[in-house]
Amino acid sequence: MSADADCLFCKIAGGQIPADVVRESERTLAFRDISPQAPTHVLVIPREHHRDVASLAAESPDTLAELVREAAAVAAAEGIEAYRLVFNTGSEAGQSVFHVHVHVLGGRAMTWPPG
Ligand code: IMP
Repeated sequence: MSADADCLFCKIAGGQIPADVVRESERTLAFRDISPQAPTHVLVIPREHHRDVASLAAESPDTLAELVREAAAVAAAEGIEAYRLVFNTGSEAGQSVFHVHVHVLGGRAMTWPPG
């Protein structure tokens, strides 16, 4: 699916809603989370609308690979060697925006298991 008129992250990808963009590629966009949970908290999204990471893997695996490469590039640009990539998938797992995004979290010690 290319875009969903009601989707917040489609609006960010389309430039209709502003974001603190840190990195762009042909198929992805990376911007700072509005409510950061770590010193580095960046979201990387595909420009195209896909509901979650499983849908993206099924519908556009090349874009999923690019998303992960871009997440690693964000971490490198932020100067963090250890970082956590999170794809919340489904509302009970904490997904609140149903346009797939990977959280890039770093710059502090992480605990396990996550809450
Ligand atoms: P989820 O809960 O895994 O779906 O993550 C959605 C994330 O989007 C949350 O961490 C929010 O803080 C973040 N978020 C929501 N609205 C915006 C925005 O307008 N700009 C940047 N981040 C946002």
